[in-house]
Amino acid sequence: MQETTKHKSRVFSGVQPTGNLHLGNYLGAITKFVALQAEHECLYCVVDLHAITVFQDPEELTRNTREVTAAFIASGIDPDRHIVFNQSQVSGHAELAWIFNCVTRIGWLNRMTQFKEKAGKDRENASSGLYVYPNLMAADILLYHAARVPVGEDQKQHLELARDIAQKFNNDFAETIAREGYPDGFFPLPEPLITGPATRVMSLRDGTRKMSKSEDSDMTRINLSDDQDTIAKKIRKARTDPEPLPSDVKGLASRAEAGNLVGIYAGLAGTTKEDVLREFGGATFSHFKEALAELAAAKLTPIGGEIKRLMSDPVEIDRILAQGAERAHAIADPILAKTKDIMGLIRN
Ligand code: ATP
Ligand code: MG
Repeated sequence: MQETTKHKSRVFSGVQPTGNLHLGNYLGAITKFVALQAEHECLYCVVDLHAITVFQDPEELTRNTREVTAAFIASGIDPDRHIVFNQSQVSGHAELAWIFNCVTRIGWLNRMTQFKEKAGKDRENASSGLYVYPNLMAADILLYHAARVPVGEDQKQHLELARDIAQKFNNDFAETIAREGYPDGFFPLPEPLITGPATRVMSLRDGTRKMSKSEDSDMTRINLSDDQDTIAKKIRKARTDPEPLPSDVKGLASRAEAGNLVGIYAGLAGTTKEDVLREFGGATFSHFKEALAELAAAKLTPIGGEIKRLMSDPVEIDRILAQGAERAHAIADPILAKTKDIMGLIRN
């Protein structure tokens, strides 16, 4: 079926405007976004409705939305050939999320580890949006019938939930779906694309915690906006162990911090951990960290400079987002309309 081929080729992913983008976002997500442009039709979304599941200062939210957009473009995403927009400008995300609130079972949501981590001890006081966040994420993807979703390892569980939601919708409404002309199901089951040596970049201060925008200490992460000296200082101070680097990947087992730095190097260099250890096996951390700082600065500081340049023209960024939203609408509206037909919701 032609529609199925289209399902397969469309890519969707999002980044939250919750603060400074860091090396984890860059290696785990954005570099993949850039690479997929060659072969696929891509939608890259600044997911502002996800960001507000935790309180955001309005002025900062606006600024961060523009900054993520600038980071996409500075990293090599082409907003003319592909679609770059902010989520809240396409109302279908929220509408389909409501429908999925009614498809997802509470038991499914109760298994989500991100909610447990983000809500922390005071779960009663977390927003209900944070709890149903995975339903909105499923809506983001399925609103475009996107079937490929490049994400970091931390989003794997949410992608599995999105597949369960698509499957349940297809089963629950199988009869009307077939009548509407979709014998193989209406929503495709989206596939996560989680590849390469840096799918889960860890905090520089604690090899058991993921590098995050929302982590309090700036020393835990390298931001795309950091200058060369800041990058060098953070890498020099990164936690390690006293042993030199091993010469093969097996030697990284139970050395989380060492494994993290080797993965970061491989991600930045576009090679593998094996290649990095072939070159640096036996080296001390002081030597390796120096090489890593140099590589990170060479890759990241030009992007940081370009983000700054783009941020000096917010009107142009807003224009790009509006243009992207209009094109996103054109794909989303017929899919949402068909969803309503399938469910028996009257529309004109
Ligand atoms: P927050 O702490 O606000 O959730 P975040 O750093 O997790 O911020 P997101 O906007 O939630 O960033 O995620 C954007 C993309 O970056 C997702 O695809 C996510 O999987 C990926 N990502 C986030 N952190 C990492 C990381 N440490 N390593 C690899 N990929 C990551
Ligand atoms: Mg996150």
